Amino acid sequence: MSTINFESIRMGKFTLRFKPYTLEMRHVFTVASFSRTTTPVVLTELEYDGIVGYGEASMPPYLGETQESVMQFLRKIDLSAFTSPFQTAEILSYVDQIAEKNTAAKAALDIALHDLLGKIMNQPFYKIWGLNPDLIPPTSYTIGIDSEDMIRKKVAEADQFKILKVKLGLDTDKMIIDTIRSVTDVPLCADVNQGWKNKEEALEMAHWLHEKNVVFLEQPMPKEMIDENAWLTAHSPIPTIADEGCQRLVDVPKLQGVYTGINIKLMKCTGMREAKQMAELARSLDMKVMLGCMTETSCAISAAAQLAPLVDWADLDGALLIGNDIYDGMKVENGKCILPDRPGIGIRLK
Ligand code: MG
Repeated sequence: MSTINFESIRMGKFTLRFKPYTLEMRHVFTVASFSRTTTPVVLTELEYDGIVGYGEASMPPYLGETQESVMQFLRKIDLSAFTSPFQTAEILSYVDQIAEKNTAAKAALDIALHDLLGKIMNQPFYKIWGLNPDLIPPTSYTIGIDSEDMIRKKVAEADQFKILKVKLGLDTDKMIIDTIRSVTDVPLCADVNQGWKNKEEALEMAHWLHEKNVVFLEQPMPKEMIDENAWLTAHSPIPTIADEGCQRLVDVPKLQGVYTGINIKLMKCTGMREAKQMAELARSLDMKVMLGCMTETSCAISAAAQLAPLVDWADLDGALLIGNDIYDGMKVENGKCILPDRPGIGIRLK
């Protein structure tokens, strides 16, 4: 890649480069708590021995990180004590303890490191992990909260998808579902983004949505309402999935019994390494696993897709929602995720 506009930090055998970039959304995107038309990201490159791995941090505003906070975090990283990128566990533990939180910034380094390792081994990361890409579930495509006309238009545009994700949580929930059902009978999943506040009403909606072929319910109530979410999970005819309520590996065991499953996102959990640990831990606890994303370029999406064979539901539409993706990577064909047969996370500049 051209190194123009990248800030560059040399540290021993490693060089870390990064620059801010703004993603432009194809449509105004509305969920229960906000609307937006752009998403700030930071693109990273980690070079070792002439080989470059790509990474990305995506910062939807509600998560508290910014381009500036990510770049400040990246400036604190000093890998000069490490002699090889294969010291992966040590490198990522070191990065994690530099400061609390900063999970997207940590993911930007983690993804670049995994891409670099895959390129050194000359294999795609899903193969290094021994995963079968035929097991990747079809990805959902997200329909934001909108007017009836816009919803019809967006659903028509999304006709290749075998499952749609619908954002709920305002007072228009039934209108949205009925509008979609007037156009298509494709299975839906519903993301309430903590929008419901009453467990009895949530259960009533869960039954109503079940009849409308909604297959699971993501973050129905605020994450702090642990007992209410557990009660809903015990009574709901469809699985419940923790998203806002599940950030990192340490959260997973606490959520057993509170939700049926978890939504793993690289930007919440510091990257590919911990995401895989979370998927495996959730599985061992007999919980369902969903793999989600933020609005991201094909960089972070292709990184997440490497572990998609491990999950029950994939929601990897982040790069499809933007108009200025600079990478070529995971493709979606007929609703199916197609992993590139290239080393690392499999991306290249367009
Ligand atoms: Mg969600």
